[in-house]
Amino acid sequence: MSTFQAPKGTYDLIPPQSAVHLKVREAFAAPLKAAGYGYIETPAFEDVALFSRGVGESTDIVTKEMYVFETKGGTRLALRPEGTASTVRAVLEAGLHKAGNLPVKVWYSGSQYRYERPQKGRYRHFWQVGAEAVGAEDPALDAEMIIMADDAYKSLGLRQYRILLNSLGDKECRPAYRTALQEFLRGLDLDEETRRRIEINPLRVLDDKRAEVQKQLTGAPLMRDHLCEACKAYHEQVRELLTAAGVAFEDDDRLVRGLDYYTRTTFEFVHGGLGSQSAVGGGGRYDGLSEMIGGPALPSVGWALGVDRTVLALEAEGIELDLPAATQVYAVPLGDEARRRLFGLVTELRREGVATDFAFGGKGMKNAMKSANRSGARFALIAGERDLAEGVVQVKDLESGEQGPVALDAVVAELRARLA
Ligand code: AMP
Repeated sequence: MSTFQAPKGTYDLIPPQSAVHLKVREAFAAPLKAAGYGYIETPAFEDVALFSRGVGESTDIVTKEMYVFETKGGTRLALRPEGTASTVRAVLEAGLHKAGNLPVKVWYSGSQYRYERPQKGRYRHFWQVGAEAVGAEDPALDAEMIIMADDAYKSLGLRQYRILLNSLGDKECRPAYRTALQEFLRGLDLDEETRRRIEINPLRVLDDKRAEVQKQLTGAPLMRDHLCEACKAYHEQVRELLTAAGVAFEDDDRLVRGLDYYTRTTFEFVHGGLGSQSAVGGGGRYDGLSEMIGGPALPSVGWALGVDRTVLALEAEGIELDLPAATQVYAVPLGDEARRRLFGLVTELRREGVATDFAFGGKGMKNAMKSANRSGARFALIAGERDLAEGVVQVKDLESGEQGPVALDAVVAELRARLA
């Protein structure tokens, strides 16, 4: 061990576990690629004001959890706590929304940073794959988002998750609901900070996880009863499209989520095997965000799926992903001439797409065979001077233990065939 450790609330992704994370990222990306989403990558840091305006001054993310720093040039930057504000900023900056093809559909994969209280499933550095469809208002687009995430989780074999769905209304109906909710909340027995929240963003109080708060919320006015006709019809269409696609969801009147920019459709994927940090992914419609950060009106919808928690969900369900072997063939040379010849074969096999490793460091036979077995390879290639003189290498099947000579010039084709 060195003097240093990974910072509190973070962990290193190391092999072999890292392969699972990569596979999850790929599974999240697959439905996006099939639906016309293009890859986007933005810096890990942005002007701090992008998040305070875009994510919202009243959110925990902005008030407590952002990593803010000042550059030598005096600019105040923040490590990104989420991907949507940056993505919309980049879309606006590049003028993608003016190219005439709305919605602009993009996806990203990257780390996010939040100064949260660390616990299992909650880290200060974590990975999200996200999707955003910018510039269209269409219930089918909201449904598309939820269907893609559902397909991604299903493709990983996950079963024990639920989809929670709600509508938060829009600028027509939300203000009256907000007022009604505020009136209700002001009558409750709440701490100072929560009282302040009632005035800034009362919907977030509904999201309070504390039992003593939740207890008092029975009887709170519900958005459902305040939705305007347009929002009601929109939500009904989203629900119908999901049902037609065979996606099972639950209506959840209390689902508001922690970011200020959501309007209308909001949803969360929660997993039963994760304890308190149960949300594996979530998102919704954010029709006002573009204007909040100085852009034109661009109604949009998106989600972010958490890779770290999804890996925990796979563990909770006992799912082992079908991962390709890191090493298929392991070469063990005995002597200098064999080292040269086998290293040549190793390069050739790799160029043919066979994952191949080599006994580096001049290991003896016994040690090298141990490494071959540990590598997980199916075959060992072994050659000494006598083999080379006969123009062969020994191919050992590490599963069955069977071993036999194969001509040097035939071994690449032979191994490819046996591995197919
Ligand atoms: P949010 O951006 O808060 O809507 O989060 C979207 C998803 O990212 C969540 O459902 C989690 O799976 C994941 N996530 C959010 N915060 C954390 C965190 N601190 N640690 C690990 N995963 C997180």
